[in-house]
Amino acid sequence: MLVGIGPGSHDHMTHRARAAIAESDVVVGYVTYIKLVADLLEGKEVVRKGMTEELDRAVHALASAREGKKVALISSGDAGVYGMAGPTYEVLFQAGWTPESDVEVEVVPGASAINACAALVGAPLTHDFCSISLSDLLTPWPVIARRLDAVAAADFVVALYNPKSGRRTQQIVEAQRLFLRHRRPDTPVAVVKSAYRRRERIEFTTLDKMSDCDIGMLTTVLIGNSNTFIRHGLMVTPRGYANKYELHGDGSTRQGERPGRSLSTGLLGWMENLKADHTEGESIAALALRHKLPADYIEAVLMTPAEEVALKEDAASTEESEA
Ligand code: SAH
Repeated sequence: MLVGIGPGSHDHMTHRARAAIAESDVVVGYVTYIKLVADLLEGKEVVRKGMTEELDRAVHALASAREGKKVALISSGDAGVYGMAGPTYEVLFQAGWTPESDVEVEVVPGASAINACAALVGAPLTHDFCSISLSDLLTPWPVIARRLDAVAAADFVVALYNPKSGRRTQQIVEAQRLFLRHRRPDTPVAVVKSAYRRRERIEFTTLDKMSDCDIGMLTTVLIGNSNTFIRHGLMVTPRGYANKYELHGDGSTRQGERPGRSLSTGLLGWMENLKADHTEGESIAALALRHKLPADYIEAVLMTPAEEVALKEDAASTEESEA
């Protein structure tokens, strides 16, 4: 069992994670995580491994499972998020294992650092987000830098995992440099250390000061998008309701918008406007530039009959009740 134990407090571990550890004969994990579940370990074989022995852990788990033992391989957060689930499946496949084999595998999901840290600072993930690990131990820097550049440009809310360690101190500076090419210097940033653990610490800052903060191995850095704000010590990313409803008035639908239907700037409305602009003489190249989209995509959209899309939306809207 690949068990995600959550951010590090009992209250935030799932029922299934506790049960999985309770019913196992062998518990394998990094020393810190073993300590976090110390009260569940009586009478069990416990294998404490160091940080860099990930593959060893998986190999050991498989060997024990083949002896007929129930093994819990524990990871902090979610075992599948920069955790043991991937390496374990790789070791299993290498050993000729298939899902039909004698050894059963279960991944027990847990609250990942991104969820834990977001909950502590407010509601920063209420719109599209992604995570990037700044660890270059197994990933070449240009790959990491390209992803940072792409998500900074695409205005995602971003969680930076593994932002800094004793030896890796420059990666966060480079991440800041790449982000500042696309984002405002005053973009809100939350630096969350040891979420739901003893030394928990939350610091709010801005993108231009991000790398000056106290950041370590147990820190996750949350960078807001262009709409994210901090108010009364809470970081919030708007869901987009203000685009559709009058939030300060009677809550009615804004002019030109309809409840349960795509925005006037949603796909259909946007297609209609795009066609009108093109008919009025705006070139494909100019439209591509203005909408920051590839010219061949604009061209393909212009060739799609809008009536088809409209009919589909009409038919579907009678079945849907989305906001
Ligand atoms: N599987 C884990 C992530 C392992 S990578 C998960 O799903 O959360 C290790 C990184 O996770 C750390 O460098 C840090 O960025 C983040 N992290 C893990 N626990 C954390 C915590 N309690 N508070 C803040 N960040 C944490």
